[in-house]
Amino acid sequence: MSAYVLVINAGSSSLKYSLVDAESGEAAASGLVERIGESEGRHTHRGPQGETSTVLTASSHEEALRAAIDAFGTYGPALDQVGMVAVGHRVVHGGTYFAEPALIDDELLTRVSELISLAPLHNPANLDGMRVALRLFPDLPQVAVFDTAFHQTLPPAAHTYAVPQEWATEHGVRRYGFHGTSHAFVSAEAARMLGRPASDVNLVVLHLGNGCSATAVRGGVSVDTSMGMTPLEGLVMGTRSGDLDPAIHAHLARELGWSLDKIDHLLNFGSGLKGLAGDNDFRELSRRRAAGDERAQLAFDVYCYRIKKYIGAYYAALGTVDAIVFTAGVGEHDAAVRAASLADLDRLGITIDPDRNTASSTDARRISTDDSPVAVLVVPTNEEWQIARETVRVVEVS
Ligand code: ADP
Repeated sequence: MSAYVLVINAGSSSLKYSLVDAESGEAAASGLVERIGESEGRHTHRGPQGETSTVLTASSHEEALRAAIDAFGTYGPALDQVGMVAVGHRVVHGGTYFAEPALIDDELLTRVSELISLAPLHNPANLDGMRVALRLFPDLPQVAVFDTAFHQTLPPAAHTYAVPQEWATEHGVRRYGFHGTSHAFVSAEAARMLGRPASDVNLVVLHLGNGCSATAVRGGVSVDTSMGMTPLEGLVMGTRSGDLDPAIHAHLARELGWSLDKIDHLLNFGSGLKGLAGDNDFRELSRRRAAGDERAQLAFDVYCYRIKKYIGAYYAALGTVDAIVFTAGVGEHDAAVRAASLADLDRLGITIDPDRNTASSTDARRISTDDSPVAVLVVPTNEEWQIARETVRVVEVS
């Protein structure tokens, strides 16, 4: 039976929504309001009649969500007729409070606002989205699904930084990890593809989108992950540096007189592929590489080498690995990244089949050779479906 959930992902200047059947994962409609608070924004709604895109100047998330509700009325499907059972919200930072999704109440909102200092770019917008939806859908249960929750199982050796321990106990300085919704979804799919219960399977999951993260999953449980206290640590990303020597902050501040805010901004928005090659879209980077562009080649090499290092580290952490799993925009579509990241790992039991790797497909698939002891899988992520499923699970038990 269908159980539709309106999934809301409120960003600082955008609001994404999707009406998802929690049973099948089918999205009956989805949409995006962009450039909220700016002089000219846009609203795109995809529904039964196809895609419509209109200019919309929304000054707040409330206006954006009202526009989304109107679009359901105008273009369908009618929200009051589909049997919508709940609203599910993506919330970036749940700190150590939330190891599971939770019903939204005043206490949850307070907790999420206490965590703003750990996620200043995301949690305020997520809070705004939740408050607005509570006002506009007062009769529906609403659930917060946290990016950090899947990683609350990290053992202390993996989540503890080697710094004075008051930093952790008094200021929350520890590894939390992100992209948890995607890692949870993809891990469950990978176990299904291997035909084994998730509790029997060890995986290295590589979420390679604009943001990138690697997770070591033992028996369905996250035991290490590359993003840290913030989503800046770990792999090279579109505009984020990932790992670097922490002394670089002090060096730049001393040598150039740059403020910490400026350095933080450049590491989040001006680094990664963009900093290395001036481009953060992999498709453009591939075109430039093919044309012999050396900056694009170096960016590609740094990106793939970092992935390979994390595969090695998590292989060692897990002891045995059943599958390496690629997901998200780059992971699902870029065969060259997959090939370079896994090159010469045959001695670790990882051998990809070049034809399977480059075959054009958008389905979940195995790209390793039949005799590769470690499977290599490409699994399209579906965070909206995962949020819808978790939302229904919380609503059913409450
Ligand atoms: P987000 O982290 O924003 O959810 P996505 O998972 O959608 O990101 O990934 C976005 C990135 O995926 C783009 O920046 C682009 O570099 C890359 N990408 C998307 N499609 C392709 C493709 N066909 N080939 C290579 N890279 C792609």
